[in-house]
Amino acid sequence: MADRRGILIILSSPSGAGKSTLARRLMQWDPTLRFSVSATTRAPREGETDGVEYYFKDRTEFEQMVAADEMLEHAHVFGNFYGTPKGPVQTAMAAGRDTLFDIDWQGGQQIRNSALGKDVVSIFVLPPSIAELENRLRGRAQDSEDVIAARMEKSISEISHWAEYDYVLVNRDIDAAETELKTILTAERARRDRQPWLNDFVRALNVEFDER
Ligand code: 5GP
Repeated sequence: MADRRGILIILSSPSGAGKSTLARRLMQWDPTLRFSVSATTRAPREGETDGVEYYFKDRTEFEQMVAADEMLEHAHVFGNFYGTPKGPVQTAMAAGRDTLFDIDWQGGQQIRNSALGKDVVSIFVLPPSIAELENRLRGRAQDSEDVIAARMEKSISEISHWAEYDYVLVNRDIDAAETELKTILTAERARRDRQPWLNDFVRALNVEFDER
């Protein structure tokens, strides 16, 4: 039995706010963190590998996973289906390993409202401005104006859920945001209820005190 259940760290933001960079940096900082690899029906992008960024599924396979109750949460995002496979999360939690989720507000809401809600720490990343967000979205790829406009609409709708999160970071500077994120995780791990071993530890301190 692990000392404590793993924490479910939910990171959400509109795309272009720096969430993927922050997730990557957090994983590098603490290699014991497990990244939750989602299943999706969207096509792989260049450089993406099945089983690393996502499990790429067709619509039928995805629906079968949902029907078999294998998803912790699932949602329709930007024309595709995305979902979090349940099994690996349960295994990591039982082993006391913290899991990082890069999922949208719908997924965040479903996990927060599930039986695992008390193990959730949710963090929303805001862009410093809409102009900056648009710059980042434009810088990414040669997308048509229509695609950019649709992404901006999606972003503003994602941002409307900011107040449902425990913590909110404004990503003005990626290094500062990274430090804030690490601080949040460090503090959450130090919560009394996440350190059940403390009872025995303090009892031992008392014994040591009495015996000296
Ligand atoms: P992308 O296709 O750009 O990788 O991701 C699009 C959006 O889907 C991002 O906001 C990402 O956080 C979200 N997403 C990725 N995986 C999941 C998932 O398993 N569940 C939910 N609800 N959203 C996800």
